[in-house]
Amino acid sequence: MELRKDYALERWVIIASGRSKRPQERREAEGQVRGVCYFCPGNERFTPPEIGRLGGRRWRFRWFANKFPAVEPKGNPEARTDNEFFTFADAYGIHEIVVETPSSAKQLWDLKHSELVELFSIYNSRIGELSKADRIKYVSVFKNHGVKGGASLRHSHTQIIASAVTPPVVNAEAESCSGKCPYCRIIGTEKNSFRRCFENETAAAFTPYASRFNYELWIFPKIHRKTLGEFSENEMRDFTELLHNALKRLKTLNVSYNYFIHYSPDSADLHFHLELAPRISNWAGFELSSGIVINTVSPEDAARFYRGESRF
Ligand SMILES: [Zn+2]
Ligand SMILES: [Zn+2]
Repeated sequence: MELRKDYALERWVIIASGRSKRPQERREAEGQVRGVCYFCPGNERFTPPEIGRLGGRRWRFRWFANKFPAVEPKGNPEARTDNEFFTFADAYGIHEIVVETPSSAKQLWDLKHSELVELFSIYNSRIGELSKADRIKYVSVFKNHGVKGGASLRHSHTQIIASAVTPPVVNAEAESCSGKCPYCRIIGTEKNSFRRCFENETAAAFTPYASRFNYELWIFPKIHRKTLGEFSENEMRDFTELLHNALKRLKTLNVSYNYFIHYSPDSADLHFHLELAPRISNWAGFELSSGIVINTVSPEDAARFYRGESRF
């Protein structure tokens, strides 16, 4: 697995040919070949060795290494350049899976609020643990739901990729927070705007002004927190309550989605947040050619949907 940089641009890709084996795995896992779901209780032996679980024999959450990783803890993570134009590094890192429920029949939007609190506590402890690993600079935590969201297994799960490079997007967001944090003020404005969705004592959710995705939604703690580790128990409950609300609304649309969290790198002061990106429309030629996204649902209408003032 190799990390490669574009000839001229700050644009990186991972070439991971091994992951193309997955479609066969997917058909098997969906029960179309052998009727085995590898993430179900009773099939623990089919997954790589377990790293941890919540609950005992009847576990509620379970996590282990990804069988088809996009990164691996071997090789040289330092980028080097051959023949002027070919910049590369080994795709160094650790790729894990967190199974979010023992039930194949449930999706994340079916879980109780208290279960989301547990899930985010697992995120927090995995980020803490993986950050301590040799050469790891950042831990990306993200969720794929549905075919358009890139989920290759139906059984509900989160993926975690710890890597030797900080993602360029996180660096760009962190740069915007150097000096005075803009998000602290943005939250204050948006929680009272037409884009407001949900709010409780310590967290706020809104559809971002320049939403790229239909029904895109962001959740922030109102106090400037850099990482989940800085959250009090109360803040953790509040933050996940808003995600719970958003997912319940999204379930009524029954669409694919992704979400991911962005915490601050050690050296920066990024305001922690979660971005929820429903995957309804496809990015097409204009998006690819221009980098400008055409979004056919205004964030103001999307917010009305989340607030329950309209169905679509
Ligand atoms: Zn299953
Ligand atoms: Zn802030």
